[in-house]
Amino acid sequence: MTATLIPSTLSDHGLRWQHSLGKLGTAFYTELKPTPLPEPYWVGSSTQVGKLLNLPSGWNTSAHWLDALTGNLSLEGGRSLASVYSGHQFGVWAGQLGDGRAILLGESDGHEIQLKGAGLTPYSRMGDGRAVLRSSIREFLCSEAMHGLRIPSSRALCVTGSDAPVRRETLETAAVVTRVAPSFIRFGHFEHFAHTDQHAELKTLADYVIDKFYPQCRKSDQWQGNTYVALLAEVTRRTAEMVARWQSVGFCHGVMNTDNMSILGLTIDYGPFQFLDAYDPAHVCNHSDHQGRYAFYKQPNVAYWNLFCLGQALLPLIGEQEQAIAALETFKELYPQAFARQMAAKLGFAKAREAHRSVIEDIEKLLAAERVDYTIFWRRLSHWAEHCDCSDASVRDLFMNRTAIDDWLVTFSAQTRSEDAGHDAYLMLRSNPKYVLRNHLGELAIRAARQKDFSKVAELLKVLERPYDEHPESEHLADFPPDWAGGIEISCSS
Ligand code: AMP
Ligand code: MG
Repeated sequence: MTATLIPSTLSDHGLRWQHSLGKLGTAFYTELKPTPLPEPYWVGSSTQVGKLLNLPSGWNTSAHWLDALTGNLSLEGGRSLASVYSGHQFGVWAGQLGDGRAILLGESDGHEIQLKGAGLTPYSRMGDGRAVLRSSIREFLCSEAMHGLRIPSSRALCVTGSDAPVRRETLETAAVVTRVAPSFIRFGHFEHFAHTDQHAELKTLADYVIDKFYPQCRKSDQWQGNTYVALLAEVTRRTAEMVARWQSVGFCHGVMNTDNMSILGLTIDYGPFQFLDAYDPAHVCNHSDHQGRYAFYKQPNVAYWNLFCLGQALLPLIGEQEQAIAALETFKELYPQAFARQMAAKLGFAKAREAHRSVIEDIEKLLAAERVDYTIFWRRLSHWAEHCDCSDASVRDLFMNRTAIDDWLVTFSAQTRSEDAGHDAYLMLRSNPKYVLRNHLGELAIRAARQKDFSKVAELLKVLERPYDEHPESEHLADFPPDWAGGIEISCSS
């Protein structure tokens, strides 16, 4: 028998390494290698993200890439590390955390590539450094679903699995998600250096982020030339925009701890997230969140609270507390503006107007009172507007209180007909997705994947990449959730 020679590094990989984070110094990270997993297999992969990274064609069927993206084989020129951060978890200072199971392979053409679930790091604390198949599939699909919904997010290249056992509440199996973002730096990175009084490092980190991602902050005369206030203001703006988009599609993050908040305003760290089925503003998707701190309707306020933690951390650099507060205060205008823009688009208006406000508030009340399916309502409304067929029952049928919805539809259609409204039914179809990653859809794909059938992961990826399009062969993925969907329990355990 001839033994297959496994190389120790993969060359010719198309990646062009820069490692800018890796040049900051050892205060920020520990260099280390991923821990291999036995006999990996492909679970899902994104050709879109492969192209983004300039990977050679056929990467997602290659045994070498399978090994490389499971942490079993080094990528030539890579420089792998785990970074240190801290953070507030559920409103309480949690002290040092860090990449406990995510290992950065390096940065190529502005994309950092991280393996999540790749083994122990100095920051693993009580954890095992692993991620289970279930949560890895959820993170993979949701990253790409969010991108499809035009919501800023980390991306996901692939998931690989291994039958190596991983203990959670029950015995599960291991998986690795390869995720990609311009940077995985979190609010918690800044909190770490502020709380440990490492102000030189705090400045190095802030300067790194500004030079690389927010160079306009150096020019800003708006904040009296205070570059670090300008940074806080910019992060505030991006975070407001991100959360407004979450609220408009009914996305509940589930663990908005400051260590899960991206300095670039990206949605990161997918854990117990959920897209609302029935519209319920008080919905808490994370079964570990007993106080309901991260209920759906609280997300904008939590984002604001988290930004205060970031502001506090940046204070040694900002100097003036009033300036920091002024930058944070902009959230109070930016968030409602961003939300109004998103909701106006759902109604088919390119520009938000004051007149839309009551229409939006009224429909939210109606949807909440009757627990109407959020995604299906907006999609049906888009078709209703497209055909201008007011006798169409598809929207009315979602409500018990027909008088209330009829009244609302009359008000809404009057707005669409007003001369200067510029109503566009096509914009509604581009703003109200037909497909979202409902919990039960993820669950069905996970159950099949446990039996080594990965076709449902691939099918979901395909529709979620283009959630506003019709996918006649996958019509069932746009259905109402089954009764058992309400019983799915998603917790922090991942
Ligand atoms: P999360 O709630 O997933 O954002 O994780 C919070 C912190 O716990 C982060 O520092 C993670 O790296 C760490 N962590 C979560 N799960 C594990 C695990 N299985 N092994 C090591 N660290 C973990
Ligand atoms: Mg996290």
